[in-house]
Amino acid sequence: MRFSKTFIKTLREAPKDETAKNGAFLTRAGYIHKEMAGVYDYLPLGLRVIENIKRIIREELNKLGCEEVQMSALQNPEPWEMTGRFSDQEVDIWFKTELASGGVLGLAPTHEEPITSMLKSYISSYRDLPLYVYQFQTKFRNELRAKSGILRGREFLMKDLYSFHTSEEDLDKFYAEVEQAYGRIFARLGIGDDTFETFASGGIFARYSHEFQTILPVGEDTVYYNADKSTVLNKEVFNDEVLSDLGVKGQKFEETTAAEVGNIFKLKFKYSEPLELKYIDEKNKQQTVYMGCYGIGVSRLMGVVAEKFADEKGLVWPEEVAPYKYYLVGIGENGVAEAEKFYRGREDQVLFDNRNVRPGEKFADADLIGLPYRIIISDKTLANGAAELVDRFSGESQMIELANLNKL
Ligand code: ATP
Ligand code: MG
Repeated sequence: MRFSKTFIKTLREAPKDETAKNGAFLTRAGYIHKEMAGVYDYLPLGLRVIENIKRIIREELNKLGCEEVQMSALQNPEPWEMTGRFSDQEVDIWFKTELASGGVLGLAPTHEEPITSMLKSYISSYRDLPLYVYQFQTKFRNELRAKSGILRGREFLMKDLYSFHTSEEDLDKFYAEVEQAYGRIFARLGIGDDTFETFASGGIFARYSHEFQTILPVGEDTVYYNADKSTVLNKEVFNDEVLSDLGVKGQKFEETTAAEVGNIFKLKFKYSEPLELKYIDEKNKQQTVYMGCYGIGVSRLMGVVAEKFADEKGLVWPEEVAPYKYYLVGIGENGVAEAEKFYRGREDQVLFDNRNVRPGEKFADADLIGLPYRIIISDKTLANGAAELVDRFSGESQMIELANLNKL
């Protein structure tokens, strides 16, 4: 992409209300635009980051045999009434709206009820199971406080996966596969070393559910970890009874803040029973389907990755997430000509800063936007028959012979 062609403008100052690093830098660098508290637009660079996160998740889930769908965002109250969750007492973050023709609709806060209800049309026999269905979708939640940039929104993007099984063993097996896949996803997103599978209360039939928590100063959650971080618990489960249950009583635990980037639940019959999602087993008997659900906060993850790696100059994207790999700057007539040559055929990899502004401004924006590598071609580098390649993460610079630029 040529910078001169984008409508993005970088800002020298962050808006006053963007107090968290992610919101401040993502706004200044032109990745997001705030519509109102907790509601953001994703601009061209931001959308590319979102798409990269989705691609990584999609690749890892498809390996497990998961199938992608897109459920509707307008929701029929009926299945929710059958589980009791359409009431504001049960779910207190509903956005609801009224039909012109009469009646109430919900704006999707999550999808357990609709997907369970939908699959009644497709699951009838044990031969139809297991089944793993996921989507990337906008969720709406009337959160009391939207805060920390895109970490907590009233409209946000979630990946939600639901699994359907004939037995508890099969559910357990798939649950373990998802745990592994989540590990790979967070590693590819660059936050593997700081993201921990955390014991959480609120297991519905299993004793615990699990959250994936990324240690982060602005994270809203509090987690506790032991010396080698082999056991991490969230605040609600952190008590003597749980510690002895997990065999870690007496160990020293430290407290830190973290952001929940995903969570997984064994639901068993919680939704399939009230919604009567059944199948006929080998012995021709009717049985209730076992279920699990597995969420990842896609837009929150973008904020977490931004927050985690940003330095005082701006964003620093891990390579798999970055909207482009290279930030290209040509200085002087010959530098620009060589930069043009490099750019051609790499439009999808390179953000070419061909604006008519001072090099210093380009370098500052390169740091702010945070692509993994900056390439500078100028009279000075050309005198050595080379281009300069600067690593945004380490700050290390190396000269690359022009003849070798093509290999990048
Ligand atoms: P939280 O405790 O942070 O409110 P939750 O328990 O409501 O999360 P789920 O309903 O299971 O979470 O949603 C799945 C994932 O979606 C969460 O793990 C989180 O990463 C993300 N998420 C939840 N609420 C929001 C929000 N308001 N804004 C952005 N992401 C969110
Ligand atoms: Mg919530």
